[in-house]
Amino acid sequence: MSAEASWPGIIEAYRGFMPVGERTPIITLREGNTPLLAAPALQERIGLPIPLYLKCEGANPTGSFKDRGMTVAVSKALEERQQAVMCASTGNTAASAAAYAARAGIDCIVVLPIRYIAMGKLAQSVMHGAKVIAIEGNFDDAFRIVVEITSKYPVQLVNSINPHRIEGQKSGAFEICDRVGNAPAYHAIPVGNAGNITAYWKGYREYHEAGRSRRLPKVLGFQAERAAPIVRGEPVADPQTIATAIKIGNPASWKGAVAARDESGGLIETVTDEEILEAYKMLASIEGLFVEPASAACVAGVAKLVREGYFVRELQAGVPEDACVACILTGHGLKDPDCAIQAAQEPVSVEASAEAVVDLLRLKEPVSSRA
Ligand SMILES: *Cc1c(COP(=O)(O)O)cnc(C)c1O
Repeated sequence: MSAEASWPGIIEAYRGFMPVGERTPIITLREGNTPLLAAPALQERIGLPIPLYLKCEGANPTGSFKDRGMTVAVSKALEERQQAVMCASTGNTAASAAAYAARAGIDCIVVLPIRYIAMGKLAQSVMHGAKVIAIEGNFDDAFRIVVEITSKYPVQLVNSINPHRIEGQKSGAFEICDRVGNAPAYHAIPVGNAGNITAYWKGYREYHEAGRSRRLPKVLGFQAERAAPIVRGEPVADPQTIATAIKIGNPASWKGAVAARDESGGLIETVTDEEILEAYKMLASIEGLFVEPASAACVAGVAKLVREGYFVRELQAGVPEDACVACILTGHGLKDPDCAIQAAQEPVSVEASAEAVVDLLRLKEPVSSRA
């Protein structure tokens, strides 16, 4: 074993399932192997009748699950001797592409909807040396632009319509199955451009076919109410939500999401921004998990299904005893500090003295010490 950590990153960990060969140069930041946490307190708070597990994808090297796909996409780009990669992004794809391109020693160009991108994500792309191009438009506009450019010029597109992204991201499903000892009965996930829901469903199916799990989960996808093209059944021209990572009106992997929903017997529903913010605060205050708003959408969705009686009906219909819900917490809360500051109470400031702090806290000295 070398001096480096024993987890080799998702390509080496799941090589037999990955589209790589002997000559593929592996560009990795040792992504994956993220924590899967039991969350009994949050489970009780929302009234979920079966165990809740949270997959903390914010623990990936750039702070989101995008790294799972990017290690494969950038490794393949290098194998194919590409000199540059390009993507449209609500922020996390750009941050990840920029980091992996830096490590590979190739150029990265990112096109971002400047008015809707969280500051942490922009900072990452800039620091990793990407050429950052801000457009006066939304993600869907940015995506249209990069698809057109990469079809004409020698630049590799690394958005999730690049199949290598999906291949890498499916490793999240493998990890859950390896940890739980089976696929979870329910898999809850936020849906934006719909690459991740597509990737997880592919991962669960491949593991099942390989005999590494004994069932397939029902896939429960959640979109923000005013950015819910798949739920509405038509593109949304002007999507709106505080959860910028899922603020997408015309998802590229629409068909993959519908297939995951229908083949698994699951559903795709909406959650409001208020429900997202409530879940966002609960995750942080009850479980110690600071995630970005888009990530909280899947917990908000599970809570909504509980209120609607979904899980009670499922249990009556004969859900197996070892059933659990796995929620994918897609990105870290530090990505979007502005949202947190607005959602929480501003800290109160006082003069710099112990007395002032004690006064503010209304602390009382214990009676015994007042002798
Ligand atoms: C990209 C992203 C999503 C949405 O994933 P899709 O594959 O676009 O559906 C959700 N949450 C976070 C934090 C993301 O970065």
